Amino acid sequence: MDADSTSRRIVSGLAKIGLILKNHAWRNAAARRLTPTQAQVLAILAARAQRGMRLSSLARELAITAATASDAVSTLLKKGLVRKARDAEDSRALAIALTAKGRREAGRTSDWPDYLLAAVDALTPAERESFLLALVKMVRSLQDQGKIPLARMCLNCSFFEPNRYSDRERPHHCGFVNGPFGPGQFRLDCPDFEPAPSPLQDVNWDALSSHI
Ligand code: SF4
Repeated sequence: MDADSTSRRIVSGLAKIGLILKNHAWRNAAARRLTPTQAQVLAILAARAQRGMRLSSLARELAITAATASDAVSTLLKKGLVRKARDAEDSRALAIALTAKGRREAGRTSDWPDYLLAAVDALTPAERESFLLALVKMVRSLQDQGKIPLARMCLNCSFFEPNRYSDRERPHHCGFVNGPFGPGQFRLDCPDFEPAPSPLQDVNWDALSSHI
């Protein structure tokens, strides 16, 4: 079997999982009288902790137009789930942040389906680790192709220091928590992420890819 047909089978499998996630998102959001886009806005704001986000950043992260993001935010404002706040980095700009009610709602709508977590749990620890590293590589490739915005993952983060320790189980260092971690603990959407300069991202990637 050639690599091309294996790649197509993997993409077909990913599409099946994507469909399951999409159906779950629709059902979960509808049960809470939200659209999937509104639920995604709440989830992304919850992941960004206290900082809030500008409308343009929200639209970029969700890969939707500014008009669609604006519609979703207007409805969430009316429902009292989000509020407008001063942007932490530029006090002249406005950011969107969760209200206390919105934070509770985000907790209810952003859970991953138990059956999908059970399917991942059914993999062996080695399979889970390989799968996670493969996902990191795919996200990096999609990012390089300009199909997704810069992912808030360790590889792109200024706190990340690959292969700092000789411990094979936990060779990497996270400067945010100031501690070691292993390849099974790579984050793909970390709330504490700080973007590293682009040359450092390349250095991190080169250091890492020689080990995976
Ligand atoms: S702050 Fe988050 S993204 Fe950055 S290295 Fe630590 S765990 Fe990874």
